[in-house]
Amino acid sequence: MRLSGLLMPTLREVPAEAEITSHRLMLRAGLIRKLAAGIYSYMPMGLRSLRKVEDIIREEMDRAGANEVLMSALLPAEAYQPSGRWDVFGPEMFRLRDRHDRDFCLGPTHEEIFTETVKNEVKSYKQLPLTLYQVGTKYRDERRPRFGVMRSREFIMKDAYSFDLDEKGLDESYKKMYEAYCRIFTRLGLKFTIVDADSGAMGGSGSQEFMVLSEVGEDIIAHCEACGYCANEEKAECIPDGKKFEANGKEIEKILTPDVHTIAQLTDFLGVPEYMFVKTIIYKADDKFVAVLVRGDREINEVKLQNLLGAGEVELAAPADVRAITKAEVGFAGPMNLGIEVYADNEIKNMHSFVTGANETGYHFVNVETGRDFEVTKYADLRQITNGDICPKCGKEINTFNGIEVGHIFKLGTKYSKALDLTFINEAGESVPVIMGCYGIGVNRCLAAVIEQHSDENGIIWPVSIAPYHVSVIPVNVNNQAQKELAEKIYNTLLENGIEAIIDDRDERPGVKFKDSELVGIPLRITVGKKAEENIVEYKIRGSEGFEEKTADDAIKAAIEYIKEGIKSI
Ligand code: ATP
Ligand code: MG
Repeated sequence: MRLSGLLMPTLREVPAEAEITSHRLMLRAGLIRKLAAGIYSYMPMGLRSLRKVEDIIREEMDRAGANEVLMSALLPAEAYQPSGRWDVFGPEMFRLRDRHDRDFCLGPTHEEIFTETVKNEVKSYKQLPLTLYQVGTKYRDERRPRFGVMRSREFIMKDAYSFDLDEKGLDESYKKMYEAYCRIFTRLGLKFTIVDADSGAMGGSGSQEFMVLSEVGEDIIAHCEACGYCANEEKAECIPDGKKFEANGKEIEKILTPDVHTIAQLTDFLGVPEYMFVKTIIYKADDKFVAVLVRGDREINEVKLQNLLGAGEVELAAPADVRAITKAEVGFAGPMNLGIEVYADNEIKNMHSFVTGANETGYHFVNVETGRDFEVTKYADLRQITNGDICPKCGKEINTFNGIEVGHIFKLGTKYSKALDLTFINEAGESVPVIMGCYGIGVNRCLAAVIEQHSDENGIIWPVSIAPYHVSVIPVNVNNQAQKELAEKIYNTLLENGIEAIIDDRDERPGVKFKDSELVGIPLRITVGKKAEENIVEYKIRGSEGFEEKTADDAIKAAIEYIKEGIKSI
């Protein structure tokens, strides 16, 4: 490709809206452009890398014996009704109506569609096991689209679904996908870790997430160095710490706490530690309000809460609702006489003589006892795991890390086959529901995750496997005949050898050309400058210090070897 004819809209300035490296670099390198919140267009360079990610995924899915299909993204409501998910998805589902007023949605995930397909097309148990996959567009009206294509509202997912007759079969299908995922993320150049995940609203018996370790990851991973336990925050079980609470035997007492709105202000005011407080947080779970209690020094994990309640969505209640329920300003909620269910984190069980809000603006209660002063509907593990927590497996210490979830594999079991009546008469003549697994990879998110792990102050450093082009040939001065001819010769020889080369034939200053080449992250640069007449060029590997002088022929040879090595499948 000739750069003179390539749309590569690089930017010198750092776009203000981008908070993280990958988002900034994708905009600056001209890979993507924003159309609306969480909606992006891909420019030529970005699209090439995106397609390469897809190709690697396809190769590994095919190698694992999965069949590629393509389902529509526009789906009738009826598809999601038998499983109940037409309602469960709530506001995350993009919904629309056709001219006949029939309900449709833009598919957020396709379990039902694949289940129905197998039901219609597979006639005998003998055709199982079967794994189908697609690389298709998904739509989710995310509450907080952010970080560019990392969390967008339209994105490409590789989703696969396995169909087996028994648990053993599912275990095998799952293992194949697990191994394929390891190969895919390794080929993408990602450093990743695999964590036990929450099966959540999807139902099912087990699941794991593939996490790319990164400071900007929105997921928190709990890891125990001592025993290797590794789980995401939603799954990680929190063990109550050993703090001892003595009941002081005193009656509950309401005290004036004026101008106190935060736990920190309250600790100062009362002179007691944070863990002596019980926070009462009012949540809206679908259409119902609940109160949730955690110790003052802890945070609530909303996914744990959502699972406990079996809710589609949980969110903090709006201030007006908090006022209506507690009859007080926000900051003074307590668990007494709320008229709604009260869920308490397990740690509350051991607490005595603690402090809560008094449901009256400007007041708190002290000497509070559970059971005597208020009732708990249910205790559960509802809190967020943190650094220093107790490992649920071995009792040693947990460390937490941030991770980007790039893939998720899931033993679904019979949730969808039962709901959609996908059964087979097996060899023994019994009718059995098919046992399913589902397996997702966020294609665009992978691309962003690679950039998070592979960049420097000058731009992206693509792994060869997904670089938009392999080699950038740069004649320093396109008006110099010797430089121009040698650059063309190198460019053409690389192309003839199957190397994806670009030639920067623009009449630009060399500094501009070098900057662009570094910004868009082309793995190799061959610069043809003053020594062109001696057949000498500069050979530079992106991300390494300095460059080497080589004869043109040696540079070509080295480039071919380097690139072939880099794209070799593992
Ligand atoms: P998250 O917790 O990040 O919202 P999820 O659990 O909703 O992810 P899945 O339903 O398991 O995600 O989807 C499979 C994969 O699709 C995820 O592992 C992720 O890589 C990708 N993905 C999910 N939501 C988005 C999004 N909004 N933008 C880009 N990729 C996404
Ligand atoms: Mg999600």
